[in-house]
Formats: sequence, C-alpha cells, structure tokens
Amino acid sequence: MAIDLSERQRRIVEIVRSDEPITGERIAHRLGVSRAAIRADLSLLTMSGVLCARPRVGYTCAARKEPSRVFSDLFRTYRVQDCQSVPVVIGQSASCYDAIVTMFLEDVGTIFAVRDGRQLAGVVSRKDLLKVAIGRSDLHSVPVSLVMTRMPNIVTVQASATMYDAAKLLIDAQVDSLPVVVSNEDDCEVVGRVTKTNIARLVVELGSLREV
Ligand code: ADP
Repeated sequence: MAIDLSERQRRIVEIVRSDEPITGERIAHRLGVSRAAIRADLSLLTMSGVLCARPRVGYTCAARKEPSRVFSDLFRTYRVQDCQSVPVVIGQSASCYDAIVTMFLEDVGTIFAVRDGRQLAGVVSRKDLLKVAIGRSDLHSVPVSLVMTRMPNIVTVQASATMYDAAKLLIDAQVDSLPVVVSNEDDCEVVGRVTKTNIARLVVELGSLREV
C-alpha cells in the first residue's frame, strides 16, 4: 500500500528528517500551528511506520518499512471489539418464517439462534432458509433449529482477536459472518457479529487515512 501523504504531512516528515529527534510542540511551532492541529497527522505518520515516536525524546524518522508490512501491521492494530456490529438473534424455537422476516427487517444475511436469551445455539444463513423454502409451503411450522448450523460446528471469534484473525477465519471457513462470543466451559454468550462488510469497511477506512 503506497501512502499518499498530504502537503502538511510531507512538511512534517521534512522537519523531522532535518531536526530529529524533535518534539510535537516544536514541529507545530515550525509549522505555525497548534500541537492539537497536527495530532491526527502525527498519529497517521507513526501508525504507518514513517515516523517513530519516543516518549520524552520526540519524533524520529523510522527505518523504511516494506509497504506490505505497513498495511499488515496497521490491520493487526484493529480489534474485533472496535469494529463489530450488533448481533441479530432469534430464539432457536422460532419459525423459519420469523427468521426470514427478521432478516429483512434487520437487513442482515445471517442471524444467530439462541437459547436462554444469549447462549449461542446456531447460525442461520440465507442459504439455510432458501433450502428449506424450496418445496415447503408452511414455513411457520418449521423451527430454525431444524435448518441451522449448530454448536460445536460454529466458527466463533473473541472480541479481543484482531481484525486480521477475524478476516482469516471468515475466508478459511467460507462464511459471511462470525458470532463474537464470550465463552467459558459450557457457556457461549453472543455479544457481537463480525462480517465481511466490517472487514470491507475497515479496508476503506485505512485506505482513506491519507485524507485525515
Ligand atoms: P449464505 O447462506 O448467504 O451463503 P454463508 O456462506 O455465511 O451465507 O453460510 C453458508 C453455510 O455456512 C450455512 O449453512 C450457514 O449456516 C453456515 N455458517 C454461516 N456462518 C457460520 C459460522 N460462523 N460458523 C459455521 N457455519 C456457518
């Protein structure tokens, strides 16, 4: 990923190159702006590996990183808990008809079937519902528990995992969505949902960092 720096970011790099180590306050003074005005620029330049920030020393130029390393390091700084969506859940005894209505109303492609409010019991995707809809007219009488993918076959992720880990799980399992869970012993509580859309949103966010 080539980093396209703004005019001000380029000037900051020049100042650091000629005067390193230099504090954020001195960089701001040289630019004639406040320290707060360049906070976002300094974050971008350090996060992307152009500059190094040393506590009580100041900014220095970093050894040049491979562009691919810059992207992968950046991607791994984001956690599932920072990017996840609210889970859409339905009771495992609800009907397939209700599951379809929920999918439309909530505008999602996957819903999680739960027992006792939040305990993960299954995953119901569009294809699961399409399959049961073929040849059956009364979807009110078919419970989602009949069509869902069940524990222990569900691929889940913890909120503390990186977005890279989540993306890899989605690709490896060939699914669109992962339940974010807090699990201990027999309990597996659903607390979120991470989807391919969350990954795409993060990629767009990282791609537009130069506009900061
Ligand atoms: P779609 O049905 O829209 O193609 P998916 O590719 O996500 O959506 O689902 C395909 C199959 O994988 C379905 O049978 C679904 O129940 C199952 N599935 C979906 N998400 C998961 C998951 N996180 N873990 C295990 N199986 C899943």
